[in-house]
Formats: sequence, structure tokens, C-alpha cells
Amino acid sequence: MPEPVLSVDDLTIRFHLKRGTLTAVDGVSFQIHKGETFGLVGESGSGKTVTARSLMRLIPTPPGEIASGRVMFEGASIYDMSREQIRDIRGRKIAMVFQEPMSALNPVFTVGSQIGDVLRTNLAMSRSEARARTIELMGLVGIPSPGSRIDSYVHEFSGGMRQRVMLAMALSCNPSFLIADEPTTALDVTIQATILALISSMIERFEMSLLFITHNLGVVAHACDTIAVMYASHLVEMGTKAEIFVNPQHPYTIGLLNSIPKLEVQQKYLSPIEGSVCNMLDPPGGCKFHPRCAHAMAICREAVPRFREITPSHYSACHLNDQP
Ligand code: SF4
Repeated sequence: MPEPVLSVDDLTIRFHLKRGTLTAVDGVSFQIHKGETFGLVGESGSGKTVTARSLMRLIPTPPGEIASGRVMFEGASIYDMSREQIRDIRGRKIAMVFQEPMSALNPVFTVGSQIGDVLRTNLAMSRSEARARTIELMGLVGIPSPGSRIDSYVHEFSGGMRQRVMLAMALSCNPSFLIADEPTTALDVTIQATILALISSMIERFEMSLLFITHNLGVVAHACDTIAVMYASHLVEMGTKAEIFVNPQHPYTIGLLNSIPKLEVQQKYLSPIEGSVCNMLDPPGGCKFHPRCAHAMAICREAVPRFREITPSHYSACHLNDQP
């Protein structure tokens, strides 16, 4: 197996709040290889976005704290880098596309000037070089008539077009790693499909690795080779797309899969996972999923299940897998 591009080892992140200490990410480990597309899935509040932001050292400290673990990118430790080194990594090597482009883009500058700024800051391009490259990038991500749209403002673009602008900005410095944090959540279904197809084609064209954050297992089915499922700060299952969809092991993953509407069967009602995510300031002991799990046993209330190997590429953290 080649060296991973990104390696996250036993990462634990806490937030020290007035109301108490919240562990947002607890002992999370995974690796992403060159060209791999990796989906991190879970409900809101599971710790996906905190994990993603920690990879670019974007966790505000305080109140945040990297309590343990390390993140290695291309062989170097992200947490041991100087401010200059990490600034160099952001945008140039790791780029991020956010969920809500309207809040990530500045409404008082034209989209062209915002993409151009990235090019001039990171690649030391002249104004005219940056403008020409911006038009090229806007065309590449499918913005029609980029030569005239370059001087438009964010409010003049639709949601899908804004996300294309975010993608053009992310691709501007030819990064080797893209983090897409719920990039399609704010879009309607048909535009979602177009943006997903665009991200996939850009990943292939620029030979990037992808970390795709979403709450929607249906979305990762299209975008990712490997899928990790997160619940209440823990990774609960990880495997190839086929392993997760054909042979899911963890009751939470099975619940997520059951809650996807199926076109091929007549369904009167959807099958949601009962209950809601636990209070992360006062989580239950043992397996954090036990108050919602139909298979919970006595041991589930007492002991945190081990993230154990099912096959060399498939892992699950459930006491059911400890049974002989
Ligand atoms: Fe359910 Fe127990 Fe498995 Fe947790 S460890 S998912 S409570 S069976």
C-alpha cells in the first residue's frame, strides 16, 4: 500500500465552554491515499466538520483544544508547522469548499476579484494574469460567459453558480487535496447532481484526493470510494463503498441506510432512526448510540466498543461484532 497523503491518528478535539467541556472528536483515525475519494458521513453535531477544519488547523484555540493525536499531510505534521508553513498549505495544497457559499464569499467584491486575489496572493500573478486565469477557471467549472460574469457580484449568481465559484477558487492553486464540506446541502436536488458530477470530474482531471463531508449517505454513494460513518464524536464504521452499502455492520449505519427513500419499493413511511443525537456536554456512557439502538445490550451501557477489523478494509465499533 503506498504512503497515505493524509493520515489522522487518534485525534481528540475538545471545546472548553462556559457550560462545560465538549468532546467534539474522540480518538478518530483514518488515512486517505493519493486519488482516493473519502466520505465522512453522520448527522449534524457528529464531529465531521470539526474533524475537517482541524486538518487545516482552523479550530479556534481557545475555546478549542487538540487534546491528543496528530495529522500528517504529505509526511509532515500539520500541528508542528509554523504559521507560515500552514498558510502555505492552505489553498496551495489543501483547498476547502464550504457548505454555504453565500457566507464564504464576500458580497461587496466581484467574484472575479475574489478568485483573482487568491491567485495573486498565492501564486504571485500580476493583475492581468490573474484575470485571464480567473476567466479560464470560471469556464472550467461551467460558468457560462465567464468573460462577462467575472465582474458580477455574488448576489447575481444562483446557489449552484455560487458553488461553482467556490470550486473555481478552491482549484485556483492546483491543490492536491480537496475538502468539500456539505457542498450540495443548500442546493436543490437537480443542481446537487450537477455539482457532484462537477466535483468528481475535477478530482479526476486534477488528480486530487477528496475528503467529502455530508450527512447524506446517498450523496457519498456517488462521490466516494471509501466511507467512514461518524456518530457523536466517534468513528463507528469505515469501509469501501461496497462494504458499507452491501454489508453494513453498525446499527447506526444500517439506520442511516434504511432512512434513505427507495424508488424501487413502495414505501408509505420512511424509517427514521428513533431519538436524536445525545447531548454532547453530557453524553451517555459506553456506546453513545445505545439510547437509540434497538440491539443495545447491558455491556453497551458500560463499555465503549472497540473499532475492530471486520475485513482488512472494513471496521466497525459495535459490541455485536465482539460476539463469537
Ligand atoms: Fe447498539 Fe450496542 Fe452496537 Fe452500540 S455497541 S451500536 S448500543 S449493539
